[in-house]
Parts: sequence; structure tokens; C-alpha cells
Amino acid sequence: MIARVLPLTQTRAIKGLFDYILPQELADQVAVGSLLRVPFAGRVVQAVVAELTPSSELPDERLATVAAVLPARLPADLVKLAQWIGDEYCSTAARALNVMLPPGATRGLTEKLVLTAVLTDAGQSALTDGTRLTEGQRAVLTDLAASGPVPASQLGTATLRRLEGRGLVQLEHTVSSRRPDRHAVSSISKAAPKLTVEQQAALVPILDAFAVLANASMMGTEAVSTPERAAATFLLHGVTGSGKTEVYLQAAAAALEAGLGVIILVPEIGLTPQALARFEARFGDVVAVLHSGMSEGKRHDEWLRLARGEARVCVGPRSAIFAPMDEIGLIVVDEEHESSYKHEGDPRYDARTVAERRAADHGAVLLYGSATPRPESVHSAARLRLDQRVDGGALPSVEILDMRGLHNPLHPQTWLALADCRRDGGKAIVLLNRRGWSNFLSCGSCGRVWMCPNCEVTLVLHRTGGHVACHHCGHREPVPGKCPDCGSVSVARHGAGTERLEHELVTALATPEFPVFRLDADASGLDARASILERFHAASAGVLVGTQMIAKGHDFADVGLGVVVDADQTMRFPDFRAEERTFSLVTQLAGRTGRGGHGRVLVQTMEPLARPIQLAAQHDSDGFLNGELQRRRALAYPPFATLIRVVCSSEDDDGAYAATTALRQLIEPPGGRVLGPAPLFMLRGKHRSQLVVKTAERTAAIAAVRSAVDVIAGTKPHRGVSISVDVDPQ
Ligand SMILES: [Zn+2]
Ligand SMILES: [Zn+2]
Repeated sequence: MIARVLPLTQTRAIKGLFDYILPQELADQVAVGSLLRVPFAGRVVQAVVAELTPSSELPDERLATVAAVLPARLPADLVKLAQWIGDEYCSTAARALNVMLPPGATRGLTEKLVLTAVLTDAGQSALTDGTRLTEGQRAVLTDLAASGPVPASQLGTATLRRLEGRGLVQLEHTVSSRRPDRHAVSSISKAAPKLTVEQQAALVPILDAFAVLANASMMGTEAVSTPERAAATFLLHGVTGSGKTEVYLQAAAAALEAGLGVIILVPEIGLTPQALARFEARFGDVVAVLHSGMSEGKRHDEWLRLARGEARVCVGPRSAIFAPMDEIGLIVVDEEHESSYKHEGDPRYDARTVAERRAADHGAVLLYGSATPRPESVHSAARLRLDQRVDGGALPSVEILDMRGLHNPLHPQTWLALADCRRDGGKAIVLLNRRGWSNFLSCGSCGRVWMCPNCEVTLVLHRTGGHVACHHCGHREPVPGKCPDCGSVSVARHGAGTERLEHELVTALATPEFPVFRLDADASGLDARASILERFHAASAGVLVGTQMIAKGHDFADVGLGVVVDADQTMRFPDFRAEERTFSLVTQLAGRTGRGGHGRVLVQTMEPLARPIQLAAQHDSDGFLNGELQRRRALAYPPFATLIRVVCSSEDDDGAYAATTALRQLIEPPGGRVLGPAPLFMLRGKHRSQLVVKTAERTAAIAAVRSAVDVIAGTKPHRGVSISVDVDPQ
């Protein structure tokens, strides 16, 4: 037998399948997806089996033999998916396999076996038939009789060995499944509530799609085994609080009933435990969780529960799209507008696009959900609407505050509203998407601006930490007392970040009854963040200041006032998605304000007439989306075209630019054009330069970029330049 494998090497130049002789004695342990050790280029590497064939095109004497079979095995459909991702994102199948292999598999992590004591029949009778037992032995037997099998380490191994010798106890190794903590929340009901009319109307087409699926599989038609596309793609476009999760839950219940598996993607599981808790409450043990905050052992065991079919629902962030499941019936992408669905490492996959592919492979229903969907999904999916909040409350009133000519970070109206909030014992959220104390420092005499030595960006003052820091590379230095260029001690601070805002609010407003909390990436670790959110949740009144982290999926029923400070900030990026981000930020905050009908949102802006701000204030998402789709069609942006970004970076000044120029000459995208080379600001000590390919012919353009990169990468004049390709950049 011949195993055709994908070696797990990081080298871009190694592509395609390599044949190895699979000895007969190993053959029955190996299937497509098995992890092997094979000799490769003078060393032994791990590899994943992509195909098994009776013979190779190469003569036997040119083939090496498989060295060993490792315990891990990836489902065959994921091996195919990895090959597709390697092509689609100009990466390699090996790099894609690295993000989908079972956690810890490459270093041989397996299940944890625990020595367990079990009471035998003789042991049971020994308790009552007068068998001579020491006090300790009797205690152990009584324990086992009361509680069933117990890990030996809890009872004392010496005593157990003696009891085993007398046949009263049996010691055996059993698999101990490491399970993540459950999110038991008593307030969450296990039973499905009655749906609103809108929810019901949204659920019907989804259930119809399952019915079609189920019929097709009963009739054994080819449509299910080799589908060309998802059975159906839906977009659940619902205002915040309209009960989207309940629609997911009931759709998932229908999939499970049809014997099909379910994947639920959420943007950031550590910060949104509520969604997970609701799935666990409804479906119990068949729910598995996969996310990077869990220990490797727990992830490994959850992965196995899914692979064996013991768990049939997987909830997790973007990487959960690789859950090892067969017969997937439903994939949900919650908060589908979130940029965290895009993976920043190589391969730069987008979990939403991979979800489309996986849904197509399985003939599954794909369900996106958002209050502020992407124009891409509005364009491609069947839209289901939820326009009413479940509690019947109205959306909050949104007021635009013109900040032109003002110097305080907060508008006078904002101060008044916050004072009212304190007087009424209410809660407020203040959102400013900028960490630290002030944006940048400059010398009052010579004008020097403090810059990062590694990146062409200004250093941000963090007063509590006593340093200025770069938000790109992490470089830090002490707060300057005087200017190193001219010696002046007049150092001016410009702009306001969350730290300064917190300080101003504490100074002006905070009391023991009205505390001020801050949440941003300076709160390190998920636990620190979760605890800030919990304290704000538990407080009866107060203010939460933070970056957009605070507008992501949190559910504070009692926040009556929301403030967006510097709403234009997201619009200042030169990016075709800038308006979409601004609209989404204001709408998401409004959605989290004033549940129950008495909400007020203040939007501070230097551009009070800007389209996304005006439309968000009117809660007009249709108006925004229609305008946005028209604009993108006219300018040939996604979803009407594909963008591919190529970034070259190098230590030296002109290496990056030269490589980009060379690529520019090689890439001739069909149905599109190449923009650039354009220099980028220096990052982490690297000079950078980029090209952007804009094309209507996605597959052919990706292939054109891939072959150009293959030609340039590693050739002599461009050695030392690293090239990264980003298909569908964010
Ligand atoms: Zn100076
Ligand atoms: Zn830096």
C-alpha cells in the first residue's frame, strides 16, 4: 500500500503530495487523515495522509517507508478542507493542517488514563459477611460501595493494592475525560420559550431547508453526498435584543433531531459566556467547547468527544469551524460582522468563508446572524428579519453631538447626561476606541514628537504604568521629563484615551454608589476582563469606560445611557470598510443601551453629517446597507470584486520595495488590476511595501498571485524579504 502524504513543514516551497511505502503491519492502523512520521529531506517529519493508493507512479526503489503511525487522526473531510485553504489563501496545506490538527497531537498528547478502583462482588459482601478488615480497609470499601469507581489516588494506593490482592477491589486504567468548566447559570431556562411571531417566521425557512436535506438523505440522492454548495445560506438580520440566539437554539434542536451535527461560531467566547451557557442549558452534555483559553488537555479531550460523536454541538471562536464532525447539518456564525473571524497568522483564512465551504461540503444550512451585517452577506444570503426587541421596548434615541471647536474630550451635554445618570442611580457605558492616557507627546519648544524606534507611529502615554508605549510592537520607555533634542521641560500631551477619560470621570463623578470601571486591552487576560464586566454587572449604578471590547456581545439589561466618544475615529482609516465599521460601532452600542425602552445614546463627532453616523442615529440599517452596496458596486469593492493584498517586508531600506516592484511586473490578474507598490509605515523594525490586486475573477487572480510569489520568494535578489499574501484583507 502507498500512503500519499502532506509533510508538516513550514516551507512554502514544499507543495503537493509525497508517496511512501506503507508496510502491511501498519496498514490497518492508517486511514486518510492519520498522522505519521516519515523520513523527509534527511530528517524525520510528521505528515498527514491525504490518500491511500495501491501503487505509486514512482518505482519502489525511489520510495521511502513510513517510519511510524501516531495516534491522532483527522477526519478525511478536514484534509480536503486544508488543501482547499492552502490554495484559497495562497498558503500551503501543511500550514492549514497545523491549525486544525487535534490539540497537542503533534507532540503525542493522548487521553489521560487514570488508575481507578472498582468494588468487586466479593468486596461488596465482605462489608457484611464478617470478613476480617482493618479500619482503613473497611473505610475504603464503604466509600466505594457508596460512590462507585473512584480514582485510586483519592483512596491510598497501598491499601488498595492489599485489597486487590484479596480480590475485594479491582484496579483498572480508565479514560479520564478532561472537561471544561460548565457555565451553569441558574437564571437560564432549560426549556424552549414560545417564539415571537417574528422569530417563528424566521425559523420556518430554516426548518424547511432541513426538511429538504432530510428527504434527500432518506432517498439516498447524490445531492447530499457530493453537494456543490450549502443547502441554504441565511442571514438573520435582527436588532440587538430581538432574540437571535433563540432562533439558533431551535434551529440547532431541529438539526440534532435529524441526526445532524451543529457548529456555532462566536467572536470571542471568553467575553461572551452567556451564549455558551444557553447552549449548555438547552442541550447538556452533547455540547463541546473549543477555544484557546482552555488547557491543551481539555481541548484535546473535547476534540475527541466531537470526533467520536459523543458531542454533537461545537461552540467556539473562529477555529471551531474545524471541529471534527461528520454529517454537519447547521453552521451558525453569530455576530458575523466581527473582524475577529479573520485569522491574522498564516494561513490568513476567514472563518466565514471557510464556513461557506464546509457547509457546501456537508450540504449543511449556513446561518449568519448580526444586528449590523456585512454588505457581503446581505448580498449573498437569504435575509430573515427580526425588527422588534423581544421585550417590546423601543430602540433608544440617538443624539449627535458636534465636537468641532471643543477641547474637553466630553461634550457639555455628555457631562449633563452622566450627572443625570448618577442622580437617578443609573448605569452608563462610555466607548472610546483608544487605549492609554494621550495619543502622543510633543515638545512645546522644538516640536519633537515621541515616536516608536521600530515603527513609524507615535508613542502613547500610559500614566498609571509610568511609560510611553507603542501599540504595534510593545516598545516601552519611561515618560520623558524633558526633550532630548532641545532640553525643554515643556512636554505637551495631545488627545485622550480611555485611561485619561477614566481619570476625568473618577474626578468629576465617582462616589462609592457610582463607581467608574475601565475595560480595555490593558486589563490583561480573560479573567481580569471577565471580572471587570462582572463587577459592573453586579453594581446597581456606575459607568463603564472602554474600547470597543465593551460593545462586543455583552448584555447589560440595565444600561440607560451609551456614549460614543470620537465616533469618527474608525472613519479616519483609509479603508473601504471604514464607514461600515463606524455604522456598526454606533448601532451596536445603541443596541446595548436602554433595554426596556428608556435608552439614550450620545454620539460625539467632528463630522456630524457623515452618512454612517446620520443613518446609525436613525436606526436605518437598510438605508445604510443599500447605500453601501451601491457605493461598492460603483467602486468595484467586495462583494463585487475580490481584493488580494501582498505585503513585502525587509530589514533593509529598499529590499521590500524591490520585491514588491518585481511582483508587480509578474502579476497580471485576469479581470482586474494591481494597485501599488505603495510604501507602508515601518513596523517592528521592518520596512514594508504593498500591492493590492482588485479583481472580478477570484480563483484565477489568486492563482496568478500564488505563482508570482512562488517565483519571487527565495530567489537571490529578494532573499531576506518576507512576503505575506492576504486574500480578502480586513
Ligand atoms: Zn524639544
Ligand atoms: Zn513599535
